[in-house]
Amino acid sequence: MDYEFGDRLMAIGGQMVPASSGEWIVSLNPATEEPIGRAPAGTADDVHRAVAAAEKAQPEWAAKSIWERGALLRKVAAEIRARADEVRKIEAADSGNTIANLNGDMHKASNHFEYFAGLATEMKGETVPATPRGLHMTVREPYGVVGRIVPFNHPFMFAAANIAAPLVAGNAVILKSPETSPLTASIVGEVCNKVLPPGVVNIVSGYGIPVGDAIARHPKVRRIGFTGSIRTGLAIQRAAAETGVKHVSLELGGKNPLIICEDADLEMAVTGAVAGMNFAWAGQSCGSTSRILVHESLYDRAVEMAKAKLEAIRVGDPLDPAAQMGPVNSAAHYQRVMGHIATGRVDGAKLVTGGDRPKGEIFKRGYWVAPTLFANVTMDHRIGREEVFGPVMSFFKWNDFDAAVEIANATEYGLTASIYTRDIGRALGAAKRFQSGVVAVNHTTMHFIGLPFGGYKNSGVGGEECLDELLSYTQTKSIHIAL
Ligand code: NAD
Repeated sequence: MDYEFGDRLMAIGGQMVPASSGEWIVSLNPATEEPIGRAPAGTADDVHRAVAAAEKAQPEWAAKSIWERGALLRKVAAEIRARADEVRKIEAADSGNTIANLNGDMHKASNHFEYFAGLATEMKGETVPATPRGLHMTVREPYGVVGRIVPFNHPFMFAAANIAAPLVAGNAVILKSPETSPLTASIVGEVCNKVLPPGVVNIVSGYGIPVGDAIARHPKVRRIGFTGSIRTGLAIQRAAAETGVKHVSLELGGKNPLIICEDADLEMAVTGAVAGMNFAWAGQSCGSTSRILVHESLYDRAVEMAKAKLEAIRVGDPLDPAAQMGPVNSAAHYQRVMGHIATGRVDGAKLVTGGDRPKGEIFKRGYWVAPTLFANVTMDHRIGREEVFGPVMSFFKWNDFDAAVEIANATEYGLTASIYTRDIGRALGAAKRFQSGVVAVNHTTMHFIGLPFGGYKNSGVGGEECLDELLSYTQTKSIHIAL
């Protein structure tokens, strides 16, 4: 059968190849459930071949000057920009993310190469006057072969942006793409094959087991960067620990609180809360502001305003530039999201809007969930504690600020937290008390290149999108010289 987007191969050792088993994953358009393309169902053997190719390529890559590496990575950025329209079209059909909003992902994918290439001279060592007649210094060196495993919500952006820092640091990379939206990561492989020496970047598609697991377990992969769920993050830590002492960094889920105080500008706060949900990704963002904690004096108005905003979201074909929200990513994920909504109902939260498929002919097939709002949510409701990773907001009511901060902190997650208030003391106090890696005051934009994005508690270890990320792909050596 011929698919619209064809067979998208893996990049191993500079070649575009199918899986060693000859098996494929057929990718469905989540808006229509129609098959649109295939990606190889990679095997552990494919991972072993990719690691061997990376090991072979890495010493020469690391031996290039930072300027040579930087120049090549800037070319990767330029190639990504040149193919952005093609990528957006495939990605919208493959993931359900809306095409208009995918512009941001394309910029981020290429910006990361330029940003990290420009930071290369910051991979500095130190000298310490440890003895009067010696020279004591540190140098930073690459790990060698780095594994990166990414989730389905930004398949292309993660596949591209996540290889930039390890490459600038002089590592070779094996990247595993997500199995439910696997088509566009292949384009990262094509671009890297065109611009970089063979084997420096290897893209392996396939399921978590065997592909992700084989990367985590490979004894030559000593540095792993993972983005995905807590459950998989824990599995990767365990698998990695069974074969070696490894540096594993984790970017995991969130159940992110947003506190609206009685003195807040309510229109601004509710607009921020809805924007922070990232409905353009059907709420499938780790940073989605899914728990809204509103002071009782504003509560009813806040719920009404949010309901109106959710009902005004234009849900539709992700390929339509006017669509503001598409379907969720896959059949399995649709079942998970609907399961969470069912628990909200069963546990006694009040369903204010959504909760089902939107009405209309095009929504009869596909994995559609209308923007959904639950009110009167408490921490006794699972919908108030568990990450849905879908277009579902929960509104809590509070009358005591300390108790609101306690609720904000009362989950296993600690990715982002926000507060809306005109009281600077309260804002800064909350910023200190939030057990989260990222805090926003009077807005909900969480990603600013140069500042760490990363979680506290079970939301992860290790900040990304900043100098720390680059340095985390180096290991430090101390050198002591007697003069
Ligand atoms: P997931 O954990 O199910 O899968 C992520 C990746 O891990 C996929 O490529 C999958 O194939 C692979 N995988 C699965 N089992 C594996 C195993 N045993 N060993 C190795 N790899 C394995 O996550 P998902 O459903 O794709 O993504 C949703 C989750 O990702 C949410 O929890 C979300 O919050 C989180 N996320 C976090 C960030 C962040 O920056 N903190 C960003 C995006 C998504």
